[in-house]
Amino acid sequence: MQTIGFAAHSASSNLAPFNFTRRAPRPNDVVMEILYCGVCHSDLHWAHNDWGWTTFPAVPGHEIVGRVIEVGAAVTKHQIGDHVAVGCMVDSCQHCDQCQKGEEQLCREGSTGTYGGTDRITKDMTYGGYSKHLVVREEFVLRMPDGLDISKAAPLLCAGITTWSPLRTWKVGPGSRVGVIGLGGLGHMAVKLAAGLGAHVTVVSRTADKAADAKALGAAGMLLSTDANAMTDAANAFDLIIDTVPIKHDLQPYLPLLDVDGTLVIVGQVGPMAELSTVPLLMGRRRIAGSPIGGIRETQEMLDFCAENNILPEVEMIRMDEINAAFARMEKSDVRYRFVVDMASLQA
Ligand SMILES: [Zn+2]
Ligand SMILES: [Zn+2]
Repeated sequence: MQTIGFAAHSASSNLAPFNFTRRAPRPNDVVMEILYCGVCHSDLHWAHNDWGWTTFPAVPGHEIVGRVIEVGAAVTKHQIGDHVAVGCMVDSCQHCDQCQKGEEQLCREGSTGTYGGTDRITKDMTYGGYSKHLVVREEFVLRMPDGLDISKAAPLLCAGITTWSPLRTWKVGPGSRVGVIGLGGLGHMAVKLAAGLGAHVTVVSRTADKAADAKALGAAGMLLSTDANAMTDAANAFDLIIDTVPIKHDLQPYLPLLDVDGTLVIVGQVGPMAELSTVPLLMGRRRIAGSPIGGIRETQEMLDFCAENNILPEVEMIRMDEINAAFARMEKSDVRYRFVVDMASLQA
């Protein structure tokens, strides 16, 4: 089918309208009209070729909410008219041990990215959610629960699941002490979701300018990482720290904040990090871990949890043709806390 999107044609060009073809639906495919798409930092990095492996034209977008307009003959989970969502993956091998466990993001053969991935059958590059339509196999299409505001929910599909998954992996619940480093798109969801699970949440930040926001989002308070006395007083104060900082930084100051057996989990794609002393790791049996998005089952669990507990991202709605200005603002961290594109603004 013919559709329209917004694409970058080179690392230095602005995103611009782009006409392209979506594949004809296979028997197990769902065809959706995209209604909203969140704007993730990865979209910006992909469009600008910051990781060095972008193939152009690049159509970003992996926080996708829409409505089913067609289903293949073998589709059983979704019907025409359903509100549905797609996150960062559109396919995986479906037979390895990780896929069998519902951890498709850890597929032994590699999951297929929603954009910049390679379709497992046609070998074509995948195009993301900055577009009017999407065709995805039904196993990777999430159900939008009733009661979740679809105009705000899109960022749950990346920022939400990326922070939800470590909260579940490390069994956060009532009584857990959770620190969140960085209060951006991911950080603000980490605060809301951890607080929703009953944890005592503290935002760890270099500046105090978001202290009021942190409390409004559900944090008990803020720890200033630039305040040496406060950092000393906060020794052993956390069971889990979620580190959402998306650029190279020093983990050393944060490790003493973990209690014995505590874990600092990195959820941003950073690359090489600053040098590290093992002393605080050994002395507190502390761990540093990483965590990438989450599986499909866990993503559905998160969406259902957010509907039941009325948890939604803080969003600023933009038109598709405002995306280049939005990217520029994101590079200055000038968004509270996620842009969402209203796809009705994208006309054929
Ligand atoms: Zn993302
Ligand atoms: Zn697999």
